[in-house]
Amino acid sequence: LDPEEFRRLGYAVVDWIAGYRAGVGDLPVRPAVEPGWVRSQLPDTLPEAPRELGALLGELDRVVVPATTHWQHPGFFGYFPANASLHSVLGDLLSGGLGVQGMLWSTSPAATEVEQVLLDGLADALGLGPAFTWAGGGGGTIADSASSAALVALLAALHRTSGGAWRESGVDGTERVYVTAETHSSLAKAVRVAGLGARALRVVPPSPGSLAMSADALAEMLAADVAAGLRPVLVCATVGTTGTGAVDPVAAITAVTAPHRVWVHVDAAWAGVAALCPEHRDLLDGVEHVDSFCTDAHKWLMTAFDASLLWVRDAAALPDALSITPEYLRNSATDSGAVVDYRDWQVPLGRRFRALKLWTVIHGFGLEGLRAHLRGHVALAAELASWIEAEPGFVLAVPRSLSLVCFRLDTGDPDADDRATRALLERVNASGTALLTHTVVDGRHVVRVAIGSVATEREHVVALWDRLRGAAPGS
Ligand code: PLP
Repeated sequence: LDPEEFRRLGYAVVDWIAGYRAGVGDLPVRPAVEPGWVRSQLPDTLPEAPRELGALLGELDRVVVPATTHWQHPGFFGYFPANASLHSVLGDLLSGGLGVQGMLWSTSPAATEVEQVLLDGLADALGLGPAFTWAGGGGGTIADSASSAALVALLAALHRTSGGAWRESGVDGTERVYVTAETHSSLAKAVRVAGLGARALRVVPPSPGSLAMSADALAEMLAADVAAGLRPVLVCATVGTTGTGAVDPVAAITAVTAPHRVWVHVDAAWAGVAALCPEHRDLLDGVEHVDSFCTDAHKWLMTAFDASLLWVRDAAALPDALSITPEYLRNSATDSGAVVDYRDWQVPLGRRFRALKLWTVIHGFGLEGLRAHLRGHVALAAELASWIEAEPGFVLAVPRSLSLVCFRLDTGDPDADDRATRALLERVNASGTALLTHTVVDGRHVVRVAIGSVATEREHVVALWDRLRGAAPGS
């Protein structure tokens, strides 16, 4: 493909994407295909001869679109939406077009330094404090996912809390990691991948009447573990849990961890970006004292998967834990100590120029546009929550958290309510107009409505509410 032919085909691809996005709201959010249908539609053998791009686009229409869950559909309210604004799609295209591999500063200075500048600017815009900027001794990176961010934070914590011995001798079974029952499973996975075993996980109880970590209970567990000769390595405070959006008290947690050497990681994968709006910045109270902070641009900051933003307060922490320099990676820039090599901030060696899509988003919306986007979703969630509160037979399972609304049916018979709540969720999902997911709170089945898709407007939330009311028993 020469550049001129690429230009012609590129227009066709952009046309296809534009057409898809223009019409996605008319498609059923969830596909109605059986397992194996996609494979049954595709030939068993790969083409020996090249084929026209048009044939591939035809296959997208015929096979891929009907078997796709449309995450960019305005009726997508499941999990946490992964909002891929068209700005970020253009940024991804630019990144692919440049085709750089930014493992070292020297393998593409721009890939490294654009990322540094953006993460500094966002640290400031989120109010993380100067300690997380390069000038302040910390720094940020764009990981592929919050799961990877948690893993590398744990590896840095293992290194630091062992006084540097971990790199040589590994783990010894005394390490402990503190989470809550609501913490994302990626922390348990990180513990497993790091070879600590499930016994290393300490589940801290919540404060009475909440789903958020009790800092008092954490203090007791830390003291008891230290007295027993165990080694607290990492505490994960979640700002906006996956199930219900609960917020662990970061300031109180850092107050009780201060006497220990333990690393505090804040997983704000979904909710963290809300701190761009000053009115939500209290979510991050105490963040200036933590060791690492992560929030996903690919959930609620208009940036196509994957772009997880990770900051650490000590820029040496990840390289100290992870850096290995074989001869073939040696170069004078690295040797000078004047550059950041992001390969030392992650598990893989190679890395994409992810900053470009984030840059395209920030450039295209401006921080003001991003704030308006977040505020719009929060306002819609507040409206939906008020309708639910006013509706007999419906009840909020927990208070609304930003743009996440969790509710269940409530007629006073817990078993019947659970069955009816499940049936309601299934009926709405089967309609194809919306996609909702569930969680369990205090043993009760709960529907989650996560407002955050790029295309979701008030009319879509109104339509969802009409459908929920219409599908409830007795309506
Ligand atoms: N942490 C929280 C609080 C989440 O809600 C999620 C995903 O929903 C994750 C971590 C994992 O995110 P990722 O897919 O970026 O690893």
